[in-house]
Order: sequence, then structure tokens, then C-alpha cells
Amino acid sequence: MIWLLRFTALVAAFYLLRELVRWAWRHLFAEPAGRAQPPVRRGTVRRDPVCGTYVDVEVSVQAQEGGEVLHFCSARCRDAYHAQHAASGSASTVH
Ligand SMILES: [Zn+2]
Repeated sequence: MIWLLRFTALVAAFYLLRELVRWAWRHLFAEPAGRAQPPVRRGTVRRDPVCGTYVDVEVSVQAQEGGEVLHFCSARCRDAYHAQHAASGSASTVH
């Protein structure tokens, strides 16, 4: 049963780390004057579902999820997203 304990600790550590990164991201990179407005650019901008960053679809890391394309700011966020969904047990069937 030690594996269950390990797994729980791992998941807990992952969520804790994610919250920490989110917090750090907001406090280090958030503009105090600009009210978190997505940058207006010529390209289409999508929101990263993991860290909430707005990314240009031309430079984003993309992943297919249930027929729709998700955009991430980095491969780390994409992996985190997949890990998160695998952990919650709501993994959809792969076609
Ligand atoms: Zn991200």
C-alpha cells in the first residue's frame, strides 16, 4: 500500500507546485497598470488552460483534445494538462 501513499503525495505536490507557479507568475509578470488585458495582436490569441497565459496560436504548443485544438504557452503546460486529466480519471477515448 506504500505506492498509494506515494501517488497521493505526488499528486498533492503537483497541485501545490502548480498553485505556487501560478501565484509567482501573477506576481512577477502581472502588469500593475494594465488590467490583465490580453495583448492585441494581428494573430489569434488563445488562453492557456493551465496557467492562464494568452498565447498566439502561431507560436503556441498545440494539443488535440476531444476534437478541438488546445493552445499552451509551453510543452510543460501541455504535459501538466495531460497529467491533470489522466490523474482525474476523465481521460477520453483516443480515436
Ligand atoms: Zn502555460
